[in-house]
Amino acid sequence: MTEADVFEWDVADPLAGARESFSLPDDVIYLDGNSLGAMPRAAASRVQEVVEREWGHDLIRSWNDNHWFELPYRIGDKIAGLIGADTGEVVVTDCVSINLYKLVSAALKLRPGRSKLVTEAGNFPTDLYILEGIQSSRAQPLEVNAVADRDQIISAIDEQTAVVLLTDVHYKTGHLLDMAAITTRAHDVGALVIWDLCHSAGALPVDLNAIGADFAVGCGYKYLNGGPGAPSFVFAAKRHLPDARQPLSGWWGHQSPFVFSDEFEPADGIGRMMSGTQGVIGLACAEVGVDISLRFGMTAIRDKSVRMTDLFIQLFDEHLAEYGFQLVSPRDSQHRGSQVAFTHAEGYAIMQALIARGVIGDFRAPDILRFGFAPLYLRYADVWQAIMTLAEIMKTGSWDCDEFKVVNAVT
Ligand SMILES: *Cc1c(COP(=O)(O)O)cnc(C)c1O
Repeated sequence: MTEADVFEWDVADPLAGARESFSLPDDVIYLDGNSLGAMPRAAASRVQEVVEREWGHDLIRSWNDNHWFELPYRIGDKIAGLIGADTGEVVVTDCVSINLYKLVSAALKLRPGRSKLVTEAGNFPTDLYILEGIQSSRAQPLEVNAVADRDQIISAIDEQTAVVLLTDVHYKTGHLLDMAAITTRAHDVGALVIWDLCHSAGALPVDLNAIGADFAVGCGYKYLNGGPGAPSFVFAAKRHLPDARQPLSGWWGHQSPFVFSDEFEPADGIGRMMSGTQGVIGLACAEVGVDISLRFGMTAIRDKSVRMTDLFIQLFDEHLAEYGFQLVSPRDSQHRGSQVAFTHAEGYAIMQALIARGVIGDFRAPDILRFGFAPLYLRYADVWQAIMTLAEIMKTGSWDCDEFKVVNAVT
């Protein structure tokens, strides 16, 4: 594989035009879109419009006139198109952690008499922390079985299981679970599944209704490029909507919020998953990112993602084999999300040296170097350049200095 080969791939890339929709510094190769997506160029003007005209001039009339009240639904319906959901099954609201609390609580209520929840040890911490919170505040006992080995998840789901909470793409390794097989197993024994799509929404096609999924959450600020702290989305299958009751029953989840009744009556549809007033500026910004993914489509995005991660691994084998890295992501792209991770005992300092050279990935304790590939704005030439820069850092040992060993608050 040569630089010229890689250049040819960029020339022939059907997504080459998508990069123009994003604002990226010239001197940066951004391999961290799995943590914070890049900024869509249109985000700045959209936010300015919302702030200056809609808020500054139209004031409270904007809830109706500028459709602020509909935003969580409108963007939800757009995301539905990316994850195989139907209109009216997705709403954009709050952060993932809060939505996990709502969904786990609602799902447990739908399975009274069962006291077991299956999840994965080493799942993204907030998923596990929210479960701890639910466990400690519930009147009835809840046994949380955090399975350590991904191959043992299916066999851990049994007739006592009320709910299964899993993240399909592992946030560290990028390993992809078989969503269909796990959902089928759960349903066979009468359990419900909540899918955390944080590392798959906008990165690979997900077909929630084809696999009969029950509930899902996902992140707005990773591959959907919604901006820092963008609201997340909640999916509930239509068949569950009449009975799913989440505990944060605020006025935005009410059937008729502007009747101002003393009694809570949940909205008929997906709106019942909301709680209170939503951040309009964040929603408007998030919509800009979602629109770009919709324009190019998940099939093209996944095709390029697979080629990019395959290329990264191939170049890694060719140029970095001798430096003590260990690939922890699956080699087979069928089992891999849109990221590649390696371990290295000096991973933190190596990543800092790489970032200092403009190649931005991230580090996940204790020893993982993580590289995310966002096909909408990355070029194959970036993959080449990232590997060459890393090879040079390793060859010269330039990572081995004090400056790169100071641990920052956010890694
Ligand atoms: C990024 C991520 C989250 C983020 O949760 P927030 O509450 O939005 O901060 C949750 N779960 C997983 C698996 C993630 O990757």
